[in-house]
Amino acid sequence: MAKFTCRDYGFDCDFIAEGDNIAKVIEEYGKHSCDEHGIEYSKEALMQFILRKHG
Ligand SMILES: [Zn+2]
Repeated sequence: MAKFTCRDYGFDCDFIAEGDNIAKVIEEYGKHSCDEHGIEYSKEALMQFILRKHG
């Protein structure tokens, strides 16, 4: 299970992307971050966030 909580990345935002399909969660959060916050993370960077968090 992968999970992105927008607040964890310093945004004052309640968006959460989660699911069993990591690629899909990454895509969902990447889109949100770009659309809502104007920050475009690479898929590799988002993957690193997940790996760091879930160890
Ligand atoms: Zn957000």
